[in-house]
Amino acid sequence: MNRKQLAANTHQLLGDKYGLPTWRPHLSPVGELVSTILSQNTNDKNRDRAYDTLRKKFLTWEEVRDAPGNLLAESIKTAGLANQKGPAIQNALRIITEERGEIELDFLRSKTSQEASLWLTNLKGVGPKTAAIVLLFSLDMPAFPVDTHVHRITGRIGIRPDKMTAAKAHTYLAEQFLPDTYYAIHLNLIRLGREICKARQPLCQDCPLNKICNYYKNEKIQ
Ligand code: SF4
Repeated sequence: MNRKQLAANTHQLLGDKYGLPTWRPHLSPVGELVSTILSQNTNDKNRDRAYDTLRKKFLTWEEVRDAPGNLLAESIKTAGLANQKGPAIQNALRIITEERGEIELDFLRSKTSQEASLWLTNLKGVGPKTAAIVLLFSLDMPAFPVDTHVHRITGRIGIRPDKMTAAKAHTYLAEQFLPDTYYAIHLNLIRLGREICKARQPLCQDCPLNKICNYYKNEKIQ
């Protein structure tokens, strides 16, 4: 089975088990960008607490952009690395202001997904995963975010080369899955990673993908 077939079968089998999540709007594009910067190296709960505190403390994105560093760091401290994330957020908001004259990212809709990703990743502190999340979740544009679960599981199944880094896997995996499946497969892979295909001791016997998974085949042979 080639990798595109493997990707299609993965999408099908996960859809059979979990259903197909339908797209719903998330945060605004700027909100999603800030939230995703906050999410680096922490869990969803701490990210959301930091985001909520930030939004309550500063009424506008302009206030966040111009806030004293220590006040901003204090408001986002539950997300950790506040002294890195705060400057990254302010830098992004400043560049958006300089380039657009206001703080909004809806103009990205007029670009191709690749152009929009390039624009976002030119912001310091914004990597391919953050860019893909903003595009997919807030702009409904075809982009494939590769987080730790998606990277681990696609490697185990064999949808990507084993040694490929997460950064390189964004483009590669986007070519293996069909664009209109990105949203559902991204969410279903994360769910599988949390519930079954855990980093340590994956529960392969309970996994809907065990008939097509390289890791499982190799483990059974040994
Ligand atoms: S069979 Fe095992 S290793 Fe393969 S995807 Fe399922 S849980 Fe992960």
